[in-house]
Amino acid sequence: MTVPGRVDKLARLMSGLPQYFEPIRLAERGAALVGDLVVSQMPRLRQSLHDDSGTVHVHISCEPGELGAVRIHGSLSTTLKVDCQRCLGAFDLPLNVSVDIRAMTGTGSVADLDLDADVLLLGEDKLVHVASLIEDELILALPLAPLHPDGQCPATEYQGTKAPAHENPFAALKLLKLKKD
Ligand SMILES: [Zn+2]
Repeated sequence: MTVPGRVDKLARLMSGLPQYFEPIRLAERGAALVGDLVVSQMPRLRQSLHDDSGTVHVHISCEPGELGAVRIHGSLSTTLKVDCQRCLGAFDLPLNVSVDIRAMTGTGSVADLDLDADVLLLGEDKLVHVASLIEDELILALPLAPLHPDGQCPATEYQGTKAPAHENPFAALKLLKLKKD
């Protein structure tokens, strides 16, 4: 395969995710971070999940932003195993998260950035830990109380308008029992 040097360089970058990246240098090169991260590498996210199965596909670019900040933007896509807060059963939750962060050194003024984007203050080494950044974004995107999609929750028959005229006395018991599993 013959490709121009620049594309070839990007292709090498895309083959996997580094542990750390430098937003400022990536922005200078117009480079992207593309690769997969396994959920088991994200212990804080794991606490909100049923298990640590799953992989996050990461596609993030860096470019010079306003007021000296670097714009980190892109998308994360994954399917996480979560517990439905209605029936307490595990289910697959597909997530597509848009990332839009402004990274800046401590010398910049966050207040000058008049936008909704998240601001990431870079330390002296100007490095960002890839897994922590992705983990933070996914934790923010995760619903506080995940629920099965409409019509797919086994507990729905005990709820709301679909509740039978004679309430099943064992319904609550069943929920309690499931909770122990
Ligand atoms: Zn459910």
